[in-house]
Amino acid sequence: MIQLFLPLNFLGFAYREIRRALTDLENMLGLLNTSPKVADSETAQPLALKNGAISFENVSFSYDSKRPILKNVSFHVNPGAKVAVVGASGAGKSSLARLLYRFYELSSGAIKIDNQAINTVTLASLREAIAIVPQDTVLFNTSIRENIHYGRPSASEDEVNKAINMAHLTDFINSLDKGDKTLVGERGLKVSGGEKQRIAIARAILKQSPILIFDEATSALDSQSEQAILNAMREVASNHTSIVIAHRLSTITDADTIIVLKAGEVLEQGKHDELLMQNGEYAHMWTLQQKQSKAAIN
Ligand code: ATP
Repeated sequence: MIQLFLPLNFLGFAYREIRRALTDLENMLGLLNTSPKVADSETAQPLALKNGAISFENVSFSYDSKRPILKNVSFHVNPGAKVAVVGASGAGKSSLARLLYRFYELSSGAIKIDNQAINTVTLASLREAIAIVPQDTVLFNTSIRENIHYGRPSASEDEVNKAINMAHLTDFINSLDKGDKTLVGERGLKVSGGEKQRIAIARAILKQSPILIFDEATSALDSQSEQAILNAMREVASNHTSIVIAHRLSTITDADTIIVLKAGEVLEQGKHDELLMQNGEYAHMWTLQQKQSKAAIN
């Protein structure tokens, strides 16, 4: 009986953890209470990955076919480049990430990865190619190490160590009595938002997908946590094509391209310095945030 109970018990545990992982992803993408109607087309082929170039070509989208959310959005991300998407709340930044993951069908236009429209490839191969670092990762009730290993269960111990290192988690882990065996999650150690996000970064590193979506936390982090995340992000972005949904402009000044969305349209597009010179929406947001952070220090 015990012999039967143990595997069943483990199955129950695995099921609950997988449910939590899905909820985590759905939360990040804001998908709870929606019913995506997306499926593989009959002729769908696995995505033939080359180096992870991404193109949005005149993408328009609405959730309910009444209110347009994205309007004719076009941009290109070179393999390995980092694109930041900024704009006011409700501008359509997260919607753009949801569309790349193909949680919804476009109203018109195309999204391509390595020149293949994402609605012509299998969903499984598309989602395998993309790693997501959500704003607020839900941790499983297990050790820090297992939480990271979950990014790719077949990864070797060495690879997990490397991911921990790259995500700048080593000092944090060394400060804990039980190191990476420390239990986290609801029943374990309460970790800060910044530490959680670095655990999510380590998972994403381990997944080894060529494309990374990073959804920056909206809640203010102290400058030490922000710096630690920034360093971790730079490491991971260095060998991914990355799309960063950014709220604090100070974190994306090094992006190869910054897309400024306003009410679903690309208002401005360029590098930080170029956009400041244009003296438009981005420059305005920058000045405002600089004033706010000075006020917070004083
Ligand atoms: P924030 O910075 O606040 O996260 P955002 O720029 O990421 O905002 P989105 O989450 O993409 O904005 O939302 C764009 C618009 O789409 C908003 O007006 C929002 O209310 C609407 N919206 C988002 N999700 C849905 C949904 N599932 N169904 C209908 N409308 C939605």
